[in-house]
Amino acid sequence: MDKRALRKISGPNRKLNCRSGVFYAEQIQYVVCTEVKNIAHRRTLVLYVYDKERVLAGDSIPKWTVFQSKEEYIALCRDEEGTRWHQSMFNSLNREYCFSGKCSFYSYADEERVTRFCQKANLKGFNSLDGLQYELFCKRQKARRLKSQKKIAERMKPVKSLPRDIKGFIFRETLPHYIFYDYVKGKAPRNACCTACRHEVFVTEAKHNGKGICPRCKSDVIYKSRGRRGNIVDRSTVQVIQRAGENEVIIRIVKSYCRYCKSDTPKYDIYENARLFLFREDGKPVKQEDYYYCYDRKQLTPWHKGKRPGFGAWSYNFEADYSGYLYHRNLENELKGTPWQYSALKEYYMADPTPLYVDRYLNEYLHYPMLEYLVKLKLFRLATYVVYGDADGSKFYGNNEVLNSSGKTLTEILGVEKKHVPFLQTINPGGKQLKLIKSLLREGIELDVDLLKWCSENSVGNAEYLTVPLRYMTPHRLLRYATEQFAAHRKISNTDNGYYSVNYMMSDYKDYLCMCMALDHDMKSSFVLFPNDLKAAHDRVNDLNQAEITEAYDRRIAKMFNELQERYSFKKMGFMVIAPRSSKEIIREGDKLHHCVGRYVKDVVKDNCTILFIRKASAPKEPFCTVEIKHGDIVQARIQNNGSPPPEVQRFIELWKQQVLYAPATTAA
Ligand SMILES: [Zn+2]
Repeated sequence: MDKRALRKISGPNRKLNCRSGVFYAEQIQYVVCTEVKNIAHRRTLVLYVYDKERVLAGDSIPKWTVFQSKEEYIALCRDEEGTRWHQSMFNSLNREYCFSGKCSFYSYADEERVTRFCQKANLKGFNSLDGLQYELFCKRQKARRLKSQKKIAERMKPVKSLPRDIKGFIFRETLPHYIFYDYVKGKAPRNACCTACRHEVFVTEAKHNGKGICPRCKSDVIYKSRGRRGNIVDRSTVQVIQRAGENEVIIRIVKSYCRYCKSDTPKYDIYENARLFLFREDGKPVKQEDYYYCYDRKQLTPWHKGKRPGFGAWSYNFEADYSGYLYHRNLENELKGTPWQYSALKEYYMADPTPLYVDRYLNEYLHYPMLEYLVKLKLFRLATYVVYGDADGSKFYGNNEVLNSSGKTLTEILGVEKKHVPFLQTINPGGKQLKLIKSLLREGIELDVDLLKWCSENSVGNAEYLTVPLRYMTPHRLLRYATEQFAAHRKISNTDNGYYSVNYMMSDYKDYLCMCMALDHDMKSSFVLFPNDLKAAHDRVNDLNQAEITEAYDRRIAKMFNELQERYSFKKMGFMVIAPRSSKEIIREGDKLHHCVGRYVKDVVKDNCTILFIRKASAPKEPFCTVEIKHGDIVQARIQNNGSPPPEVQRFIELWKQQVLYAPATTAA
């Protein structure tokens, strides 16, 4: 409709009589006047909807003006905020339930005009208008749907056919194989037949549902006695990647069912069930459009936009699951010339050909091109960490704490020197382990394969549990002692006095050693380093009176000063980082700045955290900002009254973090 022409219609030619009865009926809120006009060469029914209260207050401008032609309708709304166009039907103008029930025509002639214009059999007034508008609404929706379906059909046009050998691939690489046999009591199975090579084979013995290897084709098989097996149904998902353009690939989700009913030959059901379009427009991050297959005769195309509706987030829905095996035979060709040409997807998949989400990999690769290097170096678990996160749920957030995604060289990306790469390759660390390795390197501790393997087997992830003992002993000695102690003090039931996990025991050991240092024990004596009963020794060194504690803590912090200074001190932009010299200094810092750092003295002594001071370079003695470091990361930075530091200090901290805290780990040697 011609909105400009419609806007010129401001009100009816008639004048409303405020003394008319409709304005005083309680149940009526809106009064409607009508006219039929010729607007821009079209016969148009115009409805003026007045707010009763506003008319009685002297305002004679209609709140809504509804324009209704034979083909279209539109409403113009006027209120305090100005004028707006509405596409909604008359009955939902105000978004109230049954709006027309609150309206009344100004006169009988107004109602007649509407009934005559709309020409709906057996319907009068508002109902006939509603009937006509609903008919037009349905038409409009249908046209809209058709338009979007045409667009989808157009999108699907360039999609090629699936690879010819897809069926063979699914059968060979994604579905289990069987040897079916006839069971004979006391004798070798008869008529054994392998589904992988489809040959009769000879097996001397077989156990129903037992695993084995086909003597002919060497495939892994499961033995199934024909008498007991019943129907077997297997299903799998395969993802096929195809190139759709210079900056676009399609991931096609192919589902398959394979059934062994009465015979030994399977019946297949292979169908494509979703398509994911991944594309990139210049310089923008990758975009993904999902479509799922849903056959409906009324539709132009079976493809629907979006993700397949599932039943709920916590129930598995095979049809809606994208994860699957990857059809890898075409990858070089299909990815050539696309942004994913060097994504090393094939190498990554072939290292562990099990179901995965390929779309995640392709998405993350464009964010983190370093994936290529990681995969080529066979650091597969780090690649997995970047794309999917670690097994313990920790995710890669792109900060430099574990990997530096903007690094240009290997050393920069991994944060270790080149000479340590072979070590990483033997360990194949995840994100958490690499972090641990770097903490060890920064402490100048030599890397040891057995130690790292032991850590990952016993989930020891806290660097200080290793760095503290390794100051005084070799990794080999540490492992031997820890294994012995854990065997002796393992806690199995609640009444035992011991340790549930190695991690917990290592925490006590570190604690014990820290206290020994604080108490000025001889750290070279193996009598001190390796007590017979760790638990008892730990309790003994912690059993002190207040004066002894204060003295011990002070001694320890003073001893740590040089070490921390060497590791963390930094001066730039008019600020500096310095380490505390005594426990008194930490307590004074807390008192001066009115925050709670004084309570951390114990944790500092036991290497649970590190407290450092940021001072203005012009006033290096004056408390200003306090930082707590835990597991190699800043956990808090506080100024006066527990406040957050101002922007310039935050910038300084960021710089310090990148240049000192996350700096590539280099050994002193
Ligand atoms: Zn075979």
